[in-house]
Amino acid sequence: MRRFYCHCGQEVFFDNTYCNRCNSILGFDTEQQKLISIEPFKGQFRSVQLPEQHYKRCMHHQHLMQCNWLLPVGDIFTQCLSCRLTRVIPNQNYPYNVKRWAVLEAAKRRMIYGLLRLGLPIHQWPAADTQQLQFHFLEDQISNPIDGHEQVFSGHAAGIITLNASEADTSYREATREAMNEPYRTLLGHFRHEIGHFYWEKLIKNQPIYTQFKALFGDDTVDYSQALATYYEKGPPEDFQQEYISAYASAHALEDWAETWAHYLLMYETLETAVEFDVIHPPETDREFHVWLSEWMQLALVLNALNRSIGNADAYPFVVSTRVQKKLQFIHDLMQG
Ligand SMILES: [Zn+2]
Ligand SMILES: [Zn+2]
Repeated sequence: MRRFYCHCGQEVFFDNTYCNRCNSILGFDTEQQKLISIEPFKGQFRSVQLPEQHYKRCMHHQHLMQCNWLLPVGDIFTQCLSCRLTRVIPNQNYPYNVKRWAVLEAAKRRMIYGLLRLGLPIHQWPAADTQQLQFHFLEDQISNPIDGHEQVFSGHAAGIITLNASEADTSYREATREAMNEPYRTLLGHFRHEIGHFYWEKLIKNQPIYTQFKALFGDDTVDYSQALATYYEKGPPEDFQQEYISAYASAHALEDWAETWAHYLLMYETLETAVEFDVIHPPETDREFHVWLSEWMQLALVLNALNRSIGNADAYPFVVSTRVQKKLQFIHDLMQG
């Protein structure tokens, strides 16, 4: 994540809606990929030239949602680039769902920030393309026996990313993480994983690069539900870390892809943050994957050591084997292209 500054000089952060030094309203410009001051707060700093005439705020900037993304003032949309991708939300008559929706959108904005930084298209698909990106946040009967869906599995199908709204609750997520014996489970990680499935359809499937994908990740035509059932019954192979970035990646070639893709996004944004804070030097050139990777390994080591000193669990509970490095490089080369 880049570093941002208010026009008054104060450092401000991605989710901030106003500057806590000068009270200016802040907004995220998706074109510049930058948080900027858009208007002075209640009559202060009238003499400062601010670009408020160029922008309007996303309609979800108020209440709990606090979306701080901006649109060009003449845009036909009232929701920002991120918010308007959401098509189904859990019943807002329940106050806990109002909170969940806000938490989900905040994580989604950060994921989309990563896509913007990588220059990946989000809305720009031909109208004839039947797979347009959209998000459905659904509640199931575990949290709402009265009007929740019977059962909601997070996943991607034909452009639609479905997330169980309960994933927005820390207690639910932690309990699930423990039950599934996972070292890492975050909302941001869910979004990065599911969007990986979406981009697989766009960038890999039926593309010349598919052969290369298959050689690295395996056969995606293997029966998916059967593979998942086997994984949940037997678990991952004992030495899964030799081959996969996570246990779940061993379930099916497409899950391996989504897990590795999510991991690439995690590394990319965290490296950007580290460079911005002068923790590491930027790699000489973006194309040099091995330089980039060795910077990452150093950084991950420090990250975990710092967390142990604080008394937290490892922030980065992963092993990046030689085989996984090859898969990450494949994604890196794809992004460079
Ligand atoms: Zn300020
Ligand atoms: Zn918005």
